[in-house]
Amino acid sequence: MSRKPEKQPEAEKKKRQSKKKTKQTLTRAVTHIRLLEANPGKLAALDALLSVYLPLCQQYTTRFCQAETSPDKYIDPVCESELSDRLHRVAIQQAAGIAKSWRTNRENAYQAYLDDVADYARAKAKAEAEGRLATFTRQEPTWNERQVPVLRVPVMQANANVLVVEPSQDSTFDYWLRISTLEKGNPLRVPVKLAPYHKEQLKDRPFNTSTTLHKRKGVWWLTLSYDQDVPVHTERCAPVVGVDVGIVHFLTTSTGKEYGSFHGKMARQHKRDRAKRRRKAKLRACLEKKGVPRDRLPSTSSATGQRLSRHVRQEINRAVNELIKDHPDARLIYEELSVASMRFHARSMNAYLYASQLGHIPEQLAWAAKRQGMAAHTVRAEYSSQECPHCHFVDRANRPNQRTFKCVVCGYEDHADHKAAGTLAGRWGDRELAACRDTKEIKALLLRRHEKWKQEHESRIERACPPVQVSLWEATEPSLGPSSA
Ligand SMILES: [Zn+2]
Repeated sequence: MSRKPEKQPEAEKKKRQSKKKTKQTLTRAVTHIRLLEANPGKLAALDALLSVYLPLCQQYTTRFCQAETSPDKYIDPVCESELSDRLHRVAIQQAAGIAKSWRTNRENAYQAYLDDVADYARAKAKAEAEGRLATFTRQEPTWNERQVPVLRVPVMQANANVLVVEPSQDSTFDYWLRISTLEKGNPLRVPVKLAPYHKEQLKDRPFNTSTTLHKRKGVWWLTLSYDQDVPVHTERCAPVVGVDVGIVHFLTTSTGKEYGSFHGKMARQHKRDRAKRRRKAKLRACLEKKGVPRDRLPSTSSATGQRLSRHVRQEINRAVNELIKDHPDARLIYEELSVASMRFHARSMNAYLYASQLGHIPEQLAWAAKRQGMAAHTVRAEYSSQECPHCHFVDRANRPNQRTFKCVVCGYEDHADHKAAGTLAGRWGDRELAACRDTKEIKALLLRRHEKWKQEHESRIERACPPVQVSLWEATEPSLGPSSA
């Protein structure tokens, strides 16, 4: 008979809660596994499947992109299809994923547009105030609604319900890929042969259930993924290093180091690219007015822009790697980036760097730390740039400029980003702060702490400090030892 376990003593419970995490799970992809063309009939069946699957996925993608509410991959099927329920569900899930990222990108672009509008209005008002309106030639920004994504490349992001990888007993290839098809009860089995480096990567590792199939230039490719457990080597007493994600530098640590920057050359390139895209958009609008059909209009997305985005990402990765190399034994504490804070940061960057790219910084930091077996935690970031680490006073006035932090109450002064990183580090383990439900509660908590500091500070002054003896300060000769007067 099973007995109800005895209630654990409080101390025991605490010990369990604070037990060190010993490993972290990393999901890695194995890409470019070519499907064998040994049996052309099988791949033709795969083509046939995708010719039904893709249009269905497109229907849901369009629906999700145009809907008022955010995509829900669990909705009841609403489109007709000859696919099985399981394949139908996979199509819905894939569409929800595509629509989600499209909506985020659109949202960010729209935000950038609104920033442009605000910027334009400011410039115009300034020109008006200075009586230069007659020579003010700047074009008012326009918003071009983005088109819903069109799925051109046959892709299926499947799960174990419809796509199973089985080891093969045959020596000529390594796996069977079993795919549910249009014919019920008659799955397609395609042989898969791995390259030596794939084999090395997958050695003794169970697959993850998420698998992708795609066709490019007439060839079918498979992407597998696996979970890897990485032991965490960060000691419990490891130094805590705060990391601030910022504008002047991608990363600033509480140890006073800075990594990566968006300023200089990269910012100039972005500015040029934005100007170019604006010109193209203008041309496009002009041609559209003249009745040029939509599919013959020039595209406003630029190859340079894509190259620049890639470049920014590479720079971010480089900065993250350097930071990790410099702090191998640390426990990293960084900010939990919310959409609101990303917008705030992105706005300050004059929309050079879209929020999606900014979001890449903490993502990359988390991933790189995991790979290295380092402990990394997120903390709430609200007011981390305005809070005084000494007296907890929170106010915008504590930031006289972008670079400087100077508390208007106690006078504490520091480099703004170093201070913010230090504040983040200090918030690790702050349960009271973590429990706050919103920004308002956080501000209230910090101001309570400031009040407490003020009371303690005042009572300390009263108790510990004797009345100031002016004569001590007026001594003409500086003395190192105790005054002998
Ligand atoms: Zn202060």
